[in-house]
Amino acid sequence: MNKSDSERIATICKGLGYKISEKIENADLIIINTCKVRQSAENRVYGLADKISELKKANKNLKVVLTGCIVGIETGILKKDQEKLEFIDLFLNIDNIDLLATFLFPNKNFDHSDTNSYLEIKPVYKSNFQAYIPIMTGCNNFCSYCVVPYARGEERSRNSKKILEEAEELILNKKYKEITLLGQNVNSYKYEKTNFHSLLSEIDKIPGKYWLRFITSHPKDLSDALIKTVENSKHITPHFHLPVQSGDNEILKKMNRNYTIEYYKELIEKIREKIPNAAISTDIIVGFPQEAEKQFENTVKLFKEIKFDMAYIAQYSERKGTAAARLEDNISALEKKKRKTVLTEILKETALSKDKKGIGKVVEILATEWKNGFLLGKSAHYKTVKFRGSKKLVGKFINVKITDAQFWGLKGKMTNKKRPLNLKPLNK
Ligand code: SAH
Ligand code: SF4
Repeated sequence: MNKSDSERIATICKGLGYKISEKIENADLIIINTCKVRQSAENRVYGLADKISELKKANKNLKVVLTGCIVGIETGILKKDQEKLEFIDLFLNIDNIDLLATFLFPNKNFDHSDTNSYLEIKPVYKSNFQAYIPIMTGCNNFCSYCVVPYARGEERSRNSKKILEEAEELILNKKYKEITLLGQNVNSYKYEKTNFHSLLSEIDKIPGKYWLRFITSHPKDLSDALIKTVENSKHITPHFHLPVQSGDNEILKKMNRNYTIEYYKELIEKIREKIPNAAISTDIIVGFPQEAEKQFENTVKLFKEIKFDMAYIAQYSERKGTAAARLEDNISALEKKKRKTVLTEILKETALSKDKKGIGKVVEILATEWKNGFLLGKSAHYKTVKFRGSKKLVGKFINVKITDAQFWGLKGKMTNKKRPLNLKPLNK
């Protein structure tokens, strides 16, 4: 979400005559767009204090704006930290980002009526072949550890016609190769008669050579109809990011996730039955308050059983104002780290053994960056692949024969061999 927000902020600044400064020292305006999901993001903002205070001494015109999720809860949480944030001139909720213009040019009159929803601000896309399209903002789920519902407010879905127009413009006119639909819980998207799977089907009808991705799916809301839509689609990639958060039913209850592990496993089975080669990734929180060793063992068991393709393993950090903050954060930092390492080791083993089965196969890769003679890219299954090639291939689909698999990703060689049309599983 943050990347997409930054693209929208860039549009506003560009419209006001600002240009991106390569060096922070030359900037007249610094906009810090931050995420508050984890404490570490907040700490990074405090960490900027000395540097920015120095810059402000050298440049009296320098203005500093803080936006993003962090600002939504300004009053409750940031108050006590306000001294540390004296270097910031303006706190602006991301939903009100169009007010930036009035702050920067107080003597001018701006019409804010047509940019009421920040989602409708046209972004300056950072890439010329990959784009993020936010389809909704906010969240109504109130998972007990999470600050998003407080920071971003209640769930609002974007006008489906506007989403389609943005997708058509990117795919048909600008020939973008990858579109990612964004939302905290895309499965609960609803705008008039359009729900998430019907929105996906509509976008999928746009002709062209491109991939369509989406994040994030709350397991409780992933419907059979969505699985079917992915199964029958031309462009939707066979990758499901399904954050499970814990492998233990009691912890899931305390997290207010509204599903059981039995339900989650059935869901994965259903996906794998319909789309045998689907890649499954997840988010996990280790060290949730009072997570007993036995409860953590259930997450270990789940990891071994599901064999995720990728997992983002976070150590629980208390977010003030959330329900879980009322529970004592009693798992030590050392223990959280240990639990993270245990899961990472299992992930390394299971993901690697699956990826090794892909050696010798030809996969299609969207090359996304070039460094020192090598291209890096992603497969439809969201696997990172590194191979030798020219810089001018960035932004192109390329057939690559997989030669090696390591934990960070796959290695390969460009090939002229066409990949079979029916996406053969990498890991079967
Ligand atoms: N909407 C998504 C997740 C958004 S937040 C979902 O429901 O899955 C992204 C991830 O940050 C979460 O999946 C969770 O694993 C992690 N996270 C959120 N709050 C956290 C906290 N207080 N401590 C540690 N990790 C947290
Ligand atoms: Fe946070 Fe839960 Fe909403 Fe995800 S679904 S954003 S974890 S409250």
